[in-house]
Amino acid sequence: MSSVLLEDLDADTYIQYVSQPSSTVIIPTGATEQHGPHMPLGVDAMLATDIATAVAEQTGALVAPVFAYGYKSQPRSGGGNHRVGTTSLNANTLIHLVEDVVTAFINQGFKNVVVLNGHFENYQFIYEGLDKAVGQTRGTGSDARAVLMSYWDFVDDETLQKVFPDGFLGWDIEHGGVLETSLMLHLHPEKVHMDRVIDHPPAELTAYDIFPEDPGRTPASGCLSSAKDSTAEKGQLLLDAVRDAVSSALISELQLPVFARKAN
Ligand code: ZN
Ligand code: MN
Repeated sequence: MSSVLLEDLDADTYIQYVSQPSSTVIIPTGATEQHGPHMPLGVDAMLATDIATAVAEQTGALVAPVFAYGYKSQPRSGGGNHRVGTTSLNANTLIHLVEDVVTAFINQGFKNVVVLNGHFENYQFIYEGLDKAVGQTRGTGSDARAVLMSYWDFVDDETLQKVFPDGFLGWDIEHGGVLETSLMLHLHPEKVHMDRVIDHPPAELTAYDIFPEDPGRTPASGCLSSAKDSTAEKGQLLLDAVRDAVSSALISELQLPVFARKAN
């Protein structure tokens, strides 16, 4: 197989892959969400796809088409769902999407399903969909397993220190900040406009949520911290660290043969 992307395979190659004893599909999940004036709406989906692809190349997995819409952006992690450009799913929709797609993959013979999440707010609803899908397929005799992860949880302290030399203030304010912008500068430099970055202090977030949202409580830029210190070099460090840590977690958790993939 020359491509790790499921959508590139013909049906015969797909059937052959799925029937292998350690067949694994990675589903990248993102969002369609504003990321300030300097980056495109598809950042979460693009980064999840790119990281999934890098991991697939090291683990012999396939990458499924990305979930390009996600659960509602929240002011304390994504700038808020009121912002134009942010187009979101209700919780039940996302749960059902995950449940349906994962059930289908397992019924077709995949032994392992991995969801690699790139949008903070998705996590618990993907969890629910995976729990239901795996529960149902167990009932029909399948022994398939699933793994759920968000990629930023695989950034180690040493990398964190290099990327945030002045101190790391938490993943919740990294919406449109140095993490995502550096990764985009490394992976899609033509889609980032550093001259449009609005340099402002990190958002001051309350310890609670309010309904309806108050758009005035998050920075007007749409980002929760400044992307000013982003570089492609930091993006490369982040990608390498995440790719290696995710790959080794999957290889050990799912007992995958290392570099199972043969190019042909
Ligand atoms: Zn994002
Ligand atoms: Mn997001």
